[in-house]
Amino acid sequence: MNLQANKNREYLRTTLLFISILVLTFSGIASAKDLDKTLLLNLNIVDVENSVLLKKHSVLIAGDKILAISDDPKEFAQQATTTIDLAGYYALPGLFDMHVHLATSPSSYDNIEDVKKRLSFLAKKGVTGVRDMAGDVRQLSYLSRQAMLDEITAPDIYYSALISGESFFSDPRTHASAKGLIPGQVPWMRQVTDSSDFQAVVAEAAGTGASGLKLYGDLTGEQTRQVIRAAQKIGLPTWGHAAVIPVKPRELVDAGISSVSHASLLAWSSNNQQPTAATARYSDFEIDLQNPVFNSVLDDMAAKNIYLDATITTFADHNSEFVYSNGIKAAKAAFQKGVPFVVGTDNRLNYWADYPSLIDEMLFLQSEIGLSAMQVIQAATLNSAKLLNIDTQSGSIAPGKKANLVIVQDNPVTDLATLKKVKMTFKNGKLID
Ligand SMILES: [Zn+2]
Repeated sequence: MNLQANKNREYLRTTLLFISILVLTFSGIASAKDLDKTLLLNLNIVDVENSVLLKKHSVLIAGDKILAISDDPKEFAQQATTTIDLAGYYALPGLFDMHVHLATSPSSYDNIEDVKKRLSFLAKKGVTGVRDMAGDVRQLSYLSRQAMLDEITAPDIYYSALISGESFFSDPRTHASAKGLIPGQVPWMRQVTDSSDFQAVVAEAAGTGASGLKLYGDLTGEQTRQVIRAAQKIGLPTWGHAAVIPVKPRELVDAGISSVSHASLLAWSSNNQQPTAATARYSDFEIDLQNPVFNSVLDDMAAKNIYLDATITTFADHNSEFVYSNGIKAAKAAFQKGVPFVVGTDNRLNYWADYPSLIDEMLFLQSEIGLSAMQVIQAATLNSAKLLNIDTQSGSIAPGKKANLVIVQDNPVTDLATLKKVKMTFKNGKLID
């Protein structure tokens, strides 16, 4: 053996030693981190994936995720750094409000301090996710980063980029949401025409960090189809009102939109009237529940898994005679046909209230539309996560998912109103207080 070989061997030994020290060091760090575990003991868990209540189970949280669930807490006892006995309480997954507006006008009523108060209120009351239905992405992106990293007390924020035809960009809200720039020409408030490069428009919209596209108004049927097709190519969900002026529900459903908002607008598929710019948010005529097109639209929504964000209670005081009653009738028919629901409010979020208006919408879906309490909870949790393409990380209490949990006093499956008095919320494994 020559000197060089010895040197090589020595070098190899030193290197291996160095690597093993590194490995030990890093694994040391990892196991120290793993030690930060919270054990929630003796909970009754609403299992939204299997539609059952798991009685007296314990949840082990490691960092921001659920590590394990068991009916035998003894196996976790050694591992936990913090143990909270919640005997008699109930846990359900963190709730989603799937229709909020947090940044229509960041320079005035949506100023960031006010919005942070709304978000903090929601998170403390059990809402750990919101879908913003179009606003100033500059503010939404900033807030969503802070929410994701727990730098503010807030639900996770999933936001939209808006696509519309020309006429909508005279609406003052679009000017507020693109302040400093030109609405219609920014990636989160984009005007399209027949000659638009739809794939490029959609790619730019996705580049804002948006979780989906909101189709607004003044689009042709063909433009709607092009936008949806381009979004589908990159796996981006599309959502819009149930009628996108002048496009009716039939065309939206045929094009494969991912979700539609405002059940009352489904009335536009129940007659031959054409929605116009002035009427598109409303349906000032009585819905015809027997209409075959209306019924086939609902059948197709069920078959294609197109979610309905009914937003009924927000129209309770509407000055149109039919908007509220049409919403109730359309939502009932949709539920009976098997259309999947998410739950949205489209309300101003009153952080001085006792509980979020989301709970009123949930209770309404149970008492007036016919969903069971379990189905309402599924709509506000798992269905929302599926629509947002985040159901591998969120939407149910299951190992591997984010530890977003709401703890309540009574059984929500028999008494949904217990959600008005949330005892505690965990978001990303941390107790919000
Ligand atoms: Zn809205």
